[in-house]
Amino acid sequence: MRRGPLSVHTRLTLWYAGALLAILVVISVLSYSLLAWSLAQDVDRSLLALAGVVRDAPRGDAFDEAEWWLRDLLDPEHQLFQLLGPDGRLRMRSWRLRDDVLPLSPDARRSVAAGRAVFETVTLHGQRIRTVALPVQRNGRLVEVVQVGVPLAPTERTLHRWIEALLVLVPLGVGLAAAGGRVMARAALRPVDEMARAARRIDAEALARRITVRGTGDELDRLAETLNGMLERLENAFGGMRRFSADAAHELRTPLTALKGTLEVALRADRSGAEYRAALASALEEVERLVRLAEDLLLLSRSTAGPESPRARVELESLVLDVADVGARLAKDRSVAVRVGSVVPVAVLGDAGSLRRALLNLVENGVKYTPTGGRVEISVTAEGGEAEIAVEDTGPGIDAGDAERIFEPFVRLDAARDRESGGSGLGLAIARSIVVAHRGTIEVERPAAGGSRFVLRLPAA
Ligand code: ADP
Repeated sequence: MRRGPLSVHTRLTLWYAGALLAILVVISVLSYSLLAWSLAQDVDRSLLALAGVVRDAPRGDAFDEAEWWLRDLLDPEHQLFQLLGPDGRLRMRSWRLRDDVLPLSPDARRSVAAGRAVFETVTLHGQRIRTVALPVQRNGRLVEVVQVGVPLAPTERTLHRWIEALLVLVPLGVGLAAAGGRVMARAALRPVDEMARAARRIDAEALARRITVRGTGDELDRLAETLNGMLERLENAFGGMRRFSADAAHELRTPLTALKGTLEVALRADRSGAEYRAALASALEEVERLVRLAEDLLLLSRSTAGPESPRARVELESLVLDVADVGARLAKDRSVAVRVGSVVPVAVLGDAGSLRRALLNLVENGVKYTPTGGRVEISVTAEGGEAEIAVEDTGPGIDAGDAERIFEPFVRLDAARDRESGGSGLGLAIARSIVVAHRGTIEVERPAAGGSRFVLRLPAA
């Protein structure tokens, strides 16, 4: 059976429990070692004290006397002691030792002979016993060795119990902490689950819905706000796209209806050759309008996607001269003068073809909307790392209220005149998307002297 990926709260809980377990294991090992060490210290200290007591016990000829005395003094399990002669032979032993002898290793024997007390852990009848051998010297000579033993069983029992307690307490602690951690992680992540559910309910058709912001001002609220901001942008973009398709369909329908009408009228009766020719010429005009519209739409979608060709250095002076030349040819019939004003040498990075298209659209508009005898002037300036191209005309100008709107697709301020001039209403939209793709800006101003002034700003190369 394949299991899905672990949820965040389970993973958090596992990490948390794992970290806690590691900490508790380290603490357990340290506490055990510390306890074992301090118990061993206690045993050795009391052994040394006992050995001192046995050494100093009043001793008559018979060892029994001392033993009686000590038996009153010591508890039964501490009554393991014996006396050895300097040669290591057993002289006396306590009653509790019965027939046994506390062993003394050759190494220990040597140390004792050298006058040092020696601790050893020995095994007697399967019982571990801690012993000390204490030399008794008189006038610098070893006269006797006092050996005392204590069974290690009680200490070992204490340590054993400590391990048992740890074996119960550590898993219990980790288990409780994991359960608590899981509850906490779940509670902390519940808003994320709710957010995911809310986001799933939002699709292209219901983009107006928003994710609830709880108002706590925490990270999750910020996430919800970010998502809501994104939804708003998407909603606007979808709305814009819908409007655009509706407008485009509308724009297509007008010439198509005209085309259909022309063809229907021509077919309704037998016509003379001249009449057919006139009908076909009119149909061709509509087809040309459709082709222009299709080309403009294609251009707009391409320029919105950004320049395809690699960014190259484009000298604005030659670009402006070229565009002015084309503009002058267009303006010839209309007696509008197209002039190049002051031009500073400056270059930008981009696609020369697209930039030419954008500038040409502005100049074409200038020529188109300026009455006979008017003038269109192009100038280039550079300031603060920015190149500025201005196209100024002596036409009707654009009201401040329309200054933003005219850059939208299919917006025409004077529909009747424009339809005549054949504009699709896409010229400025294309210019703007090209300029934006070049990280520039475009805007229209109303000079005091009248007319309009389109300003195109691009980062200088
Ligand atoms: P069109 O194809 O109609 O020229 P544009 O997008 O180029 O479309 O322009 C949109 C509208 O802005 C035009 O219909 C016109 O009303 C107005 N406009 C553009 N340029 C000028 C200008 N130089 N002077 C006056 N009006 C202008």
